[in-house]
Amino acid sequence: MYAGHVGFGLGAYSFRKTLPLWLLLIAAQIPDWLDAGFCVADMDRGPFGIYTHGFIPIAAAAVLCAILAYALTRDVTGALIVALVVASHWGLDYFTGIKPTWPGGPIVGMNLYAHPVVDVVLESATIVAGWLLYRRTLPEPVRDHGWTYATLFSLCALQVLAGAAFALSIGGHAKC
Ligand SMILES: [Zn+2]
Repeated sequence: MYAGHVGFGLGAYSFRKTLPLWLLLIAAQIPDWLDAGFCVADMDRGPFGIYTHGFIPIAAAAVLCAILAYALTRDVTGALIVALVVASHWGLDYFTGIKPTWPGGPIVGMNLYAHPVVDVVLESATIVAGWLLYRRTLPEPVRDHGWTYATLFSLCALQVLAGAAFALSIGGHAKC
């Protein structure tokens, strides 16, 4: 899952508007950003999933993001929400891909990437749900602003592009 994580982060913001939105968006996507970082740093090795999407790195990222959230807001519930958003990354990826668990443990997932239409429907639903929740946090005049809808459409477009790129890369070397 790609843009769907952003949708989840946007939705989570509606439950705790005192949390910085940027932190929720980072928390939602951090395993994929780490993946990209590993990929750029060392293209020939990999896959790097166990270092970015395994239970241990996800738990570590959840704790670090929660500590940062607490340092910024002094809000325990908010910090827990941030930790849950990091954990949600693994949960959402379980549906769309196949992900590691612990070192030496099984690799699990429903791999909906193999069914691009189902994948796009699921991811778009996540994006729309998160966007609808986020939209409720905006002041009334901004809710129907073009940019508000542009955010939704760009996320959906990004998702379709990412899905297409992934589908094309399956035939080649998709180590990252
Ligand atoms: Zn991921």
